[in-house]
Amino acid sequence: MQPTTTVYDYFNRPLRDLRISVTDKCNFRCTYCMPAEIFGPDYPFLKRGELLSYEEIERLAKVFVHSLGVQKIRITGGEPLMRKDLPTLINRLSQIKGVEDIAMTTNGVFLPKYAHALKEAGLKRVSISLDSLNDEQFGKINGRGVSVKTVLDGIDAAAAAGLNVKINMVVKRGMNDHEIIPMAKYFRDKGHILRFIEFMDVGNSNKWNLQDVYPKKQIIEDIHQVMPIEAIEPNYTGEVATRYRYVGADEEIGVISSVSDAFCSTCNRARLSASGTLYTCLFASKGHDLRTPLRSNQSNEELTELLQSIWHDRKDRYSVERSESITNRTKIEMSHIGG
Ligand code: SAM
Ligand code: SF4
Ligand code: SF4
Repeated sequence: MQPTTTVYDYFNRPLRDLRISVTDKCNFRCTYCMPAEIFGPDYPFLKRGELLSYEEIERLAKVFVHSLGVQKIRITGGEPLMRKDLPTLINRLSQIKGVEDIAMTTNGVFLPKYAHALKEAGLKRVSISLDSLNDEQFGKINGRGVSVKTVLDGIDAAAAAGLNVKINMVVKRGMNDHEIIPMAKYFRDKGHILRFIEFMDVGNSNKWNLQDVYPKKQIIEDIHQVMPIEAIEPNYTGEVATRYRYVGADEEIGVISSVSDAFCSTCNRARLSASGTLYTCLFASKGHDLRTPLRSNQSNEELTELLQSIWHDRKDRYSVERSESITNRTKIEMSHIGG
């Protein structure tokens, strides 16, 4: 279905995909995202009143869908399932006319408890993050000693509930690059699409360094040597993962190469933080406060005008600029902006 209104940014990119972070809290402390030494007991997480309520999220989502052309919504965080009654929000969002797809990114721990209710509420797809099949190593990466089985149980629960499941693996050189093949084999046999994500310089806490990036080209070569793969067409314009299929089979993998092969030219995503700030790039240094207008009785027409002008003025293309010259900007943390 074509959206009723489409707004194009400075580089002629439409807005199609809204990522909504529902909390900045998480039960993990992944070293590349929320390192425990920084996100400790005294870290100033958002307080209840600072979070957008489900009513406020729904209201904004309606404006995005009806007046800006958003077709897909992804719920993320922090860990989204740490937010109370998440199926209630999914239910509200799935009833917005014009929303074609609702997905969620999660670490999977709470899926055995919630997968069924989420599916009933209208969730279609989940991306579940898992970076290793080795317990000791995974426990170190997630910073909380959580076992691999805990996440595998979440994956099984999501599939059993009828959700479409994909797996996300962040690959960092020296951390888990030797797990690429075991993970690829495991999820090929399981029949779930595995997507490799290059370690990215989101925020300023994860000690990112270009040398630690294990690039797409290398990931593909490693897999191809053991299990031949071939490139396949994207499902749609703006798909973040480049797709590959195992030769002679139906199973596929994807690689998200934000660092080595930027895809800003087709980027149609905006991100709404849990506190109601809108970011037009994952690597943004600052966002646009929407909570104040929401809470100061602005009309839907005024909100529409504000959002349209923000998207209209958007000039972000950080990943392209990064490859042109390494930048040292102050950026928003992943757990805040939403992955
Ligand atoms: N907590 C949920 C999870 O881990 O799936 C959702 C939020 S998390 C920020 C969203 C995605 O971002 C996850 O797949 C995670 O692995 C990925 N991510 C976090 N930090 C990253 C980084 N520095 N580079 C690449 N991917 C990262
Ligand atoms: Fe939590 Fe997800 Fe970040 Fe890991 S990647 S610390 S699970 S928000
Ligand atoms: Fe989109 Fe920013 Fe990523 Fe480029 S760097 S693809 S503009 S989120």
